[in-house]
Amino acid sequence: MDIRFVINARANTLGGQFRAWLRPRGWLTAPDNLPASLRPVLAAALRGDRWLVVDNGNFADIDSVVDAAQAPLDTAVRVVSDLQAMLGRTVRRADLPNAARSDLAAAMEALQRAATITYARADTRLAAQLALPASHLIGVEDITLATALRGGLTDQTLPWSRTQVRARNQRTVRRATTLRAALAPARRLTYYPVASALNYDHAADAGRLFAAAGLDRAAIGCGAYMADDSYADGYQLGRRWISLPDRLPNRYLRTALVVRGFIDGYRAVVGQAPTGLHLLGLGAPIMLAVTARAAVGVSALSFDATSPIKDAVQATLYTNEPAYLKIRTWKIADRLLTNLRAKWTCPCPPCRAFTAAHPFEYEAARTTWPPGQDVTIDALRPGGLLYPLFPLLCEPAGGPLRVEVSTARMAHNHWVLQGICRHLQLAATNDALDAKLATIIRHYRSAAGATRFADAIELAGRIGSGQLR
Ligand SMILES: [Zn+2]
Repeated sequence: MDIRFVINARANTLGGQFRAWLRPRGWLTAPDNLPASLRPVLAAALRGDRWLVVDNGNFADIDSVVDAAQAPLDTAVRVVSDLQAMLGRTVRRADLPNAARSDLAAAMEALQRAATITYARADTRLAAQLALPASHLIGVEDITLATALRGGLTDQTLPWSRTQVRARNQRTVRRATTLRAALAPARRLTYYPVASALNYDHAADAGRLFAAAGLDRAAIGCGAYMADDSYADGYQLGRRWISLPDRLPNRYLRTALVVRGFIDGYRAVVGQAPTGLHLLGLGAPIMLAVTARAAVGVSALSFDATSPIKDAVQATLYTNEPAYLKIRTWKIADRLLTNLRAKWTCPCPPCRAFTAAHPFEYEAARTTWPPGQDVTIDALRPGGLLYPLFPLLCEPAGGPLRVEVSTARMAHNHWVLQGICRHLQLAATNDALDAKLATIIRHYRSAAGATRFADAIELAGRIGSGQLR
């Protein structure tokens, strides 16, 4: 298994220093997002065995489709949330009264209408994508289900049956087959149509369809799953509702269920995993491990996300030691103050370069900080007590230090994700992904404590490993 996190190609990630620090093994761009001035820089960054995932750019359409369907969506989502409040548990398909069903159907109709425009553009998008030297072309995609989730619907409140969702994926597969057949033979090996699913069953059906059509490369849009803040007390598996003892965050469960479902469905038809799988919008450290386990047997597995860039600016750093986590900077500051032997010892080149120029002043910070007081982000802002003492964690309002801080953190976050991919790849090569995932989840649990997030991750890990109930 070759496992890579591909980095969003932008002016700041294509910079010489960033590339020297990280030596990225892959990049992602979309034709609309790559200014002409960056094309030669990207070409240079691609020398050697490096992947270029050329996205279809559809993710940007999701919010506008949701906006276009706002009025019927508001009605439908309100009806469902009232019902949920009344029942005191997750609303399931069978709970929906007829009036709610027709509100949901109206919302879905509006979403579908708006999403059709994106779907219809697949061939012109592909023509633009072909101008770039892609190793992966993210292909035709039906974003309707992603917009439904984004708009507040779930697989349970979706007014489409499993058969209807399957028909949508069948339509995508037919279109993908046509578009792919028109490509030069070498390019066909780079074509990654996007499967569409909100639960295990949808994904398993999609996997079967892809396999039956000989589409041995696929992408799954995980961005909408990971942006979902909802909780559920169970999940659908075939005709069964698997009840959970607590309400758990859907983002981890759905991501694990869909990736595992797709691979299971695919494998059921051809006896092996697809050659290539790209997971769009997935950059949460722990979920790389969960989904890599689910995708075991895939030759080329890749991930992309803008989250390591956004998180860097929004005071969040990633770690892989002692656990795969995203940690807020003030929590790190708190630990550095209360644990007298703690230091920020990240060995990554950006952290080393930044802290050499702007060192942590541990002693001064511990002497200055009022004992027992919790650190908040205000302490790291200009004028805050820790602002001059913990520069990597601080929040300059602007100027060169802001750029330096954000760049170092952004590079650090990517460095962590690259390291995770390397570890997972090594474990996969040694046929030891199960043991690796178990260790990763144990460490996550001991760092995160007894939280619903840890419960969800543990369950997602089991799902990724194929223990579905
Ligand atoms: Zn670092």
